[in-house]
Formats: sequence, C-alpha cells, structure tokens
Amino acid sequence: MKVHKHTRAPKSGRLITCPECQHHSRVWNFHWVALTCIYCKESIDKYDWEIYDEHTELDAPFQERTEKNIETSGIASSKTKG
Ligand SMILES: [Zn+2]
Repeated sequence: MKVHKHTRAPKSGRLITCPECQHHSRVWNFHWVALTCIYCKESIDKYDWEIYDEHTELDAPFQERTEKNIETSGIASSKTKG
C-alpha cells in the first residue's frame, strides 16, 4: 500500500519503504511532497513511498528472497572504423 492523502504517522512514527532501494525510513509526519531517501539519495515523491506496516508484517509469512543470478550482458563497445 502506498502513501496516500490520508496517511498519517502515529506518535511512534511510521515506516515507509523506498521504492528505489527498498530501505525503510521512519517519518513522524507527512507534511512533505517529496523525501530524499537517505540510503539511495533519490528524491521520492510522497505518493511513491510504500507504507511499511509493522503490524501486518508480523502476521505475514516470512518470504525468502531469491537472488537471481544477474547475467552480465557484455557491454558492446562497438567501434566503427572510418
Ligand atoms: Zn532509497
């Protein structure tokens, strides 16, 4: 669930997830339009942040992250001979 107009932060703050790097940041208010992620330094629009629900997380089954083998696609440096 993404941040929306009516998203509020409780006194203890709310965790939001950066859509770029998936790191969590805690905020205590939503009186901003964009927030720069302290991890990836990207400026993320408020409504692009994902709400990280600490309570639902407890009930949700643990999901194992499968790391995909990143195939290194050779960067072709094509040199054209004149
Ligand atoms: Zn980030």
